[in-house]
Amino acid sequence: MGEFLKIVGEMPWWFWVAFWFFIGSFVGSFINVVVYRLPRNCLSVNKPSRSFCPSCKTQLKAKDNLPIIGWALLRGKCRYCGVKYGIRYPLVELLVATLFAVSSYAVLYDYGARNLAADPWAWLTLVYVLGIIGVLVPWALIDFDLTYIPDKLTLGPLVVFVPLGAHAAGPRFGLGSGVDHLLFKFEPTWLNSMLSVVVTGVLAALALWLIGKIAKVVFRKRAAEIGGEAMGLADVKLMILLGVMLGWPKLVAGFFIAIFVGATLGIIQLALKKGHGVPFGPHLAFGAITATLAMPWLLAAADWYMELLGGLAK
Ligand SMILES: [Zn+2]
Repeated sequence: MGEFLKIVGEMPWWFWVAFWFFIGSFVGSFINVVVYRLPRNCLSVNKPSRSFCPSCKTQLKAKDNLPIIGWALLRGKCRYCGVKYGIRYPLVELLVATLFAVSSYAVLYDYGARNLAADPWAWLTLVYVLGIIGVLVPWALIDFDLTYIPDKLTLGPLVVFVPLGAHAAGPRFGLGSGVDHLLFKFEPTWLNSMLSVVVTGVLAALALWLIGKIAKVVFRKRAAEIGGEAMGLADVKLMILLGVMLGWPKLVAGFFIAIFVGATLGIIQLALKKGHGVPFGPHLAFGAITATLAMPWLLAAADWYMELLGGLAK
């Protein structure tokens, strides 16, 4: 065991990036299964364990099941019935693989370590970051497809993310010493952390619910046209989870990224006069993942921008 740990401890950083890319491609493949099966109540996520063709129901061979490569080998067509598999399957696998690789790099960067094994807390932080990706990617895809998010993907992960949020390095990850994620001033830090992330989630949900109510009054005519709520109950549940996952500094950053992306896409759609409205969930997921992975760089960009404004004001 000691020998093994010594070898692991000497791996260069790029080994970890490549390793997590490989693992991520398989997780992406599993996420494709979850996105397909979870909203279809007659299908269980783990049975049948082998993937099948959605058209002819034939079980796929193991090699056809390989992430990214499998789709390329089949040239995107079923071996048995010839039905086309969407390019989205390999793209999701590639996306999750890339996010996993970037996550491992971000954790190594944050810990100032060249190796994951150098700090056991780094592993727990990596679990936390990968958990966020593993929940938010399927969540964004299901919301995109069906404009609803199953409770299994909002209320379920709460159980895991409250203690992970209490792991002080979790919410502090990427924040450096400049930003304090704690809402209260008391010891012990783990309890303070836990309470801070829970309160952040509840406040975020209340804020969103209030925005929804106000929007409904202000845009009463428009709301009646599109049929009801501007913000659904799912969005409120989602905010609780995001608050608990991220803590307030990243939640605020993620929310602004989501609004910025949503507005930009909306303007492009208006200009092109096509496309249908995308639900807010995928934008929120994008904002949350960006804030999780890129917080040190976002903070640096914010500092730079403030300095620029200060310079202009003089
Ligand atoms: Zn088939």
